[in-house]
Amino acid sequence: MAVLKAIKIKDRDGEILFRCPRCGMVFKDAKAFTRHVNRAHGHLFRK
Ligand SMILES: [Zn+2]
Repeated sequence: MAVLKAIKIKDRDGEILFRCPRCGMVFKDAKAFTRHVNRAHGHLFRK
């Protein structure tokens, strides 16, 4: 499991969004964020 922390931001409607600290992509839920991190940045955590 990746250990990249999402940046939580609120949009204009008061909805919580998760932003990837590495590439700035924004996701509506933590699940999508986690999947993105594993797919796009997962190699960073492999040893
Ligand atoms: Zn990213």
